[in-house]
Amino acid sequence: MSQLPPCPKCNSEFTYEDGVQLVCPECAHEWTEAEQAEAEAGKVIRDSNGNELQDGDTVTVIKDLKVKGSSSVVKVGTKVKNIRLVEGDHDIDCKVDGIGPMKLKSEFVKKA
Ligand SMILES: [Zn+2]
Repeated sequence: MSQLPPCPKCNSEFTYEDGVQLVCPECAHEWTEAEQAEAEAGKVIRDSNGNELQDGDTVTVIKDLKVKGSSSVVKVGTKVKNIRLVEGDHDIDCKVDGIGPMKLKSEFVKKA
Protein backbone atom coordinates (compact mmCIF):
# COMPACT_ATOMS: atom_id res chain seq x y z
CA MET A 1 0.00 0.00 0.00
CA SER A 2 1.36 3.36 -0.90
CA GLN A 3 1.29 6.24 1.52
CA LEU A 4 -0.88 9.05 0.22
CA PRO A 5 -0.12 12.65 1.13
CA PRO A 6 -2.56 14.40 3.48
CA CYS A 7 -5.06 16.86 2.06
CA PRO A 8 -3.30 20.18 1.31
CA LYS A 9 -6.45 22.06 2.30
CA CYS A 10 -7.62 20.54 5.57
CA ASN A 11 -4.72 18.19 6.32
CA SER A 12 -6.97 15.16 6.51
CA GLU A 13 -5.15 11.83 6.35
CA PHE A 14 -8.09 10.00 4.85
CA THR A 15 -7.29 10.94 1.27
CA TYR A 16 -7.82 8.34 -1.42
CA GLU A 17 -6.90 7.90 -5.07
CA ASP A 18 -9.44 8.22 -7.84
CA GLY A 19 -7.59 7.53 -11.06
CA VAL A 20 -4.86 10.17 -11.31
CA GLN A 21 -6.61 12.40 -8.82
CA LEU A 22 -6.40 12.45 -5.08
CA VAL A 23 -9.59 13.13 -3.23
CA CYS A 24 -10.23 14.28 0.32
CA PRO A 25 -13.42 12.81 1.80
CA GLU A 26 -13.57 15.47 4.50
CA CYS A 27 -13.49 18.73 2.53
CA ALA A 28 -14.11 17.27 -0.96
CA HIS A 29 -10.89 18.84 -2.28
CA GLU A 30 -9.52 17.13 -5.42
CA TRP A 31 -5.99 17.48 -6.74
CA THR A 32 -3.18 15.57 -8.41
CA GLU A 33 0.22 14.68 -7.02
CA ALA A 34 1.86 16.68 -9.81
CA GLU A 35 -0.09 19.78 -8.81
CA GLN A 36 0.88 19.30 -5.22
CA ALA A 37 4.56 18.86 -6.02
CA GLU A 38 4.49 22.05 -8.07
CA ALA A 39 2.73 23.97 -5.31
CA GLU A 40 5.25 22.77 -2.74
CA ALA A 41 8.21 23.67 -4.91
CA GLY A 42 6.88 27.18 -5.35
CA LYS A 43 5.85 28.76 -8.59
CA VAL A 44 7.60 27.26 -11.58
CA ILE A 45 8.53 29.75 -14.26
CA ARG A 46 8.77 28.31 -17.75
CA ASP A 47 10.08 29.72 -21.01
CA SER A 48 8.13 29.81 -24.27
CA ASN A 49 8.98 26.15 -24.89
CA GLY A 50 7.83 25.03 -21.48
CA ASN A 51 11.34 24.53 -20.09
CA GLU A 52 11.81 25.40 -16.47
CA LEU A 53 13.89 28.53 -15.87
CA GLN A 54 16.22 29.09 -12.95
CA ASP A 55 18.20 31.96 -11.47
CA GLY A 56 21.45 32.42 -13.38
CA ASP A 57 20.16 30.95 -16.65
CA THR A 58 20.95 32.47 -20.02
CA VAL A 59 17.94 33.06 -22.24
CA THR A 60 17.33 34.29 -25.78
CA VAL A 61 14.61 36.81 -26.59
CA ILE A 62 12.17 35.37 -29.15
CA LYS A 63 10.55 38.58 -30.35
CA ASP A 64 11.35 42.28 -30.53
CA LEU A 65 10.45 43.84 -27.21
CA LYS A 66 9.94 47.56 -26.72
CA VAL A 67 11.60 48.92 -23.64
CA LYS A 68 9.10 50.79 -21.52
CA GLY A 69 9.79 54.51 -21.28
CA SER A 70 12.39 54.61 -24.05
CA SER A 71 12.72 54.14 -27.78
CA SER A 72 15.02 51.17 -27.35
CA VAL A 73 14.05 47.75 -28.58
CA VAL A 74 15.43 44.44 -27.37
CA LYS A 75 15.88 42.62 -30.64
CA VAL A 76 14.81 39.07 -31.27
CA GLY A 77 17.79 36.79 -30.70
CA THR A 78 19.31 38.96 -27.97
CA LYS A 79 21.05 36.83 -25.37
CA VAL A 80 20.39 37.73 -21.77
CA LYS A 81 22.75 36.28 -19.21
CA ASN A 82 22.30 35.60 -15.55
CA ILE A 83 18.56 36.13 -15.22
CA ARG A 84 16.84 36.35 -11.87
CA LEU A 85 13.32 35.06 -11.37
CA VAL A 86 10.88 37.35 -9.62
CA GLU A 87 7.20 37.47 -8.77
CA GLY A 88 4.77 39.24 -10.99
CA ASP A 89 3.57 39.73 -14.52
CA HIS A 90 7.14 40.32 -15.76
CA ASP A 91 8.79 37.41 -14.03
CA ILE A 92 12.41 37.78 -15.17
CA ASP A 93 14.70 40.44 -13.79
CA CYS A 94 17.86 40.91 -15.85
CA LYS A 95 20.39 43.23 -17.39
CA VAL A 96 20.44 43.52 -21.15
CA ASP A 97 23.72 44.51 -22.85
CA GLY A 98 23.47 48.04 -24.24
CA ILE A 99 20.15 48.71 -22.54
CA GLY A 100 20.52 48.10 -18.84
CA PRO A 101 18.41 46.54 -16.13
CA MET A 102 14.92 45.55 -17.21
CA LYS A 103 12.18 43.03 -16.67
CA LEU A 104 11.05 40.46 -19.20
CA LYS A 105 8.14 38.10 -19.48
CA SER A 106 9.12 34.44 -19.49
CA GLU A 107 6.74 33.79 -22.40
CA PHE A 108 8.97 35.90 -24.67
CA VAL A 109 12.23 34.09 -24.02
CA LYS A 110 13.68 30.65 -24.49
CA LYS A 111 16.40 28.96 -22.58
CA ALA A 112 19.74 29.26 -24.40
ZN1 LIG B 1 -9.44 18.06 2.83
